[in-house]
Amino acid sequence: MTLDEILKEIKNAETIVILTHESPDGDAVGSSLAMRLIAKELGKNADVIIPEYSRLFNFLPGASEIKKDSDVEKYDLAIAVDCADLKRLVANEYFTNAAKTIVIDHHGSNTMFGDYNYVNPASPACCEVLAGMLQYYELNISKDLGTCLMTGIITDTGGFQHRGVSPETFELAAELLSKGVDIPYIYKMTLRTKTKANFELQKRVIDRMEFFEDGKVTFSYITKQDEKEVNAEPGDHEGLVEIGREIEGVEVSIFIRQREDKNAYKVSMRSGDLINVSDICFIFGGGGHQRAAGAVIQGDVEQVKKKILKEVEKAFEKAKGMK
Ligand code: 5GP
Ligand code: MN
Repeated sequence: MTLDEILKEIKNAETIVILTHESPDGDAVGSSLAMRLIAKELGKNADVIIPEYSRLFNFLPGASEIKKDSDVEKYDLAIAVDCADLKRLVANEYFTNAAKTIVIDHHGSNTMFGDYNYVNPASPACCEVLAGMLQYYELNISKDLGTCLMTGIITDTGGFQHRGVSPETFELAAELLSKGVDIPYIYKMTLRTKTKANFELQKRVIDRMEFFEDGKVTFSYITKQDEKEVNAEPGDHEGLVEIGREIEGVEVSIFIRQREDKNAYKVSMRSGDLINVSDICFIFGGGGHQRAAGAVIQGDVEQVKKKILKEVEKAFEKAKGMK
C-alpha cells in the first residue's frame, strides 16, 4: 500500500521539504502547512518552501515558518502537495534533487511524477486527501492541523458549493468542527476578504467582459500594467475567473492574466455541467479539473482569446452532438 511506503519514507528521512504549485491557493498553502504538521506528529521537522503567496493566508497556523528558499541542496525527501505536474511545482529543483519523492494530490490530470504517488481525483481538495492519510495512520488531528485542512476544503470547494463535495467532506468538516476548528473565521479570512487591489482588478475585469456563443461564454483579462497600476501583490488575481461564471446562462468563463514574460498569458477557465475545461486546457499543455482548469498560452490578448475560443467552440459542437 502506497500509504505504508509513504509513512516509511517520512520516518526514514532526516531532512524533508514540502512544495506546492505556482500561484498557490488556499488548498495549496493549507495542504503544505498541514503536511508540515503531519510530519511533526511523526517526529519530523519539515521545511515548507513557498517563495510567493497571498498575505491573506498568513492567518494559517505555521505560516510564519514558510521559507522562500533553503540552504539544503539535497533533501532526503521531497513531498509535493496539490500539484498535478513537475512543471507547475514551484522551486522544483528541491524536488528533482531530493533522494526520494512523494506526490500527494487530487488532480485527475496528475502525471504521477513522484517515486510514490497518492492521488485521489474524487477528493474535492488535497486537504481531504491528507485527512484520509491521517485516518489511515491513526494520527490525532489538532486544532491547528484541522484549521489548515479546513482552509483547503473551504477554498477549493468554494465553501462546499462545488460538485465533488461528498458526504465524506461534510463528515470531515463535522469532525474538524468538533476539534474546535473555527469555520466562520476561516470563511471570513478566505472567501469573505478581498484586498483593495483585488477589488480594483475586479472592476477592470467586469468592465472588459465580452460574451460569446450566445452568452454562454465570457472572456476577460488583466495585464501586467493593470497589476502595476493597482499595486497588486501575489494572489490578488484570485477569484477573477469566477466573475463570469456567476452570470446567468454562462457555461464557460475564461480569464487570462499576462505573465512576467510579457508575450504569454496564464489562462483560467471555469465551466458548468456541459463542458470539460480540463480537456480544453490540455490541448494547450495545461490541465486541472473538469470544471476548473488552466494553461499558459503564448501571444497577445487577441491572439490568446482567438486560440481558446476556437477550442471552446469545438467543445460546444461536440457537446451538442452528444445530446
Ligand atoms: P486556476 O484557474 O485557479 O489557476 O486553476 C484551476 C485549476 O486548474 C487548479 O486545480 C489548477 O491546479 C489547475 N491548473 C491551472 N493552471 C494549470 C496549468 O498550467 N497546468 C495544469 N496541469 N493545471 C493547471
Ligand atoms: Mn487543490
